[in-house]
Amino acid sequence: MNKLLIVGTVAFDAIETPFGQTDKILGGAATYISLSASQFGVKSGIVSVVGGDFPKEYLEKLNEKDINTDGIEIIEAGKTFFWKGKYHNDLNTRDTLITDLNVLADFNPVVPKEFIDTDFLMLGNLHPSVQMAVINQIPVRPRLVALDTMNFWMDNALEELMEVIAKIDVITINDEEARQLSGEYSLVRAAQKIHKMGPKFVVIKKGEHGALLFNNGDVFFAPALPLEDVFDPTGAGDTFAGGFIGHIAKSGDISFENMKRAVISGSNLASFCVEKFGTERMEDLSQDEIQERLLQFKLLTQFDIELS
Ligand code: AMP
Repeated sequence: MNKLLIVGTVAFDAIETPFGQTDKILGGAATYISLSASQFGVKSGIVSVVGGDFPKEYLEKLNEKDINTDGIEIIEAGKTFFWKGKYHNDLNTRDTLITDLNVLADFNPVVPKEFIDTDFLMLGNLHPSVQMAVINQIPVRPRLVALDTMNFWMDNALEELMEVIAKIDVITINDEEARQLSGEYSLVRAAQKIHKMGPKFVVIKKGEHGALLFNNGDVFFAPALPLEDVFDPTGAGDTFAGGFIGHIAKSGDISFENMKRAVISGSNLASFCVEKFGTERMEDLSQDEIQERLLQFKLLTQFDIELS
């Protein structure tokens, strides 16, 4: 069984959407990535940090999904990373109202012994210097290193972020962030520029408009499933990344052809994440539901046309 190490925030989120709002609930990039990747039966573990205010039940929820949390440091005297976001009426855009780094501000990650030889590494959203410290602790390069980041780190730690981007194979970011990182409006041009920064594979997420995979001049497009009910898009990007890397880690195949399937797997899982607030939908998701929806993806995109 392949090993997958996931780095990213484990957090409290407060979310406001047109349908309601939540007080502090379980969130964080690594939380969503790991819940999504747990659907693929790989041996996964998280590297992160939380404060003494973080409920033990949340860690147990992850353990119940066979997610190893030995690499989540608990700073008893500190407070957990907190993020508050408010979605606009179209649910495609949001404002970040609060980002309190708290214990993340001076976190020195330690990769658990069991994951020092990880086959796959998913560098989820958090400080790029933490992402780099994890890369540096793994003596034999994993088969694939993927990274997800966001505008906050481009605004606050661009130099360190560029150093990490130079070392990875796959980057997954949303369209707005791809434009910010590259300075290009066209996503094709943005992907070309990002390739030059390091990653051979560039995945650009476009929310309800699907995702694009770029590699060496080839492009693949995966739609997002048109859904009747969207309540809360929080974590959809991370859930996508978890589905993407989970699919690759399970198959062990890092070819472009398999990455196309991985992009579909990521889109499929993200379509569930948005149906309820926070992590709720990802916690009770079954394999039958996933398979059924994969079929819907197939039907959505398959067509026959005669070329003259
Ligand atoms: P997404 O909706 O996929 O972009 O991810 C939202 C999740 O990312 C939330 O659960 C937040 O806790 C987490 N998050 C928000 N801002 C940051 C940040 N600057 N660094 C790391 N994680 C963040």
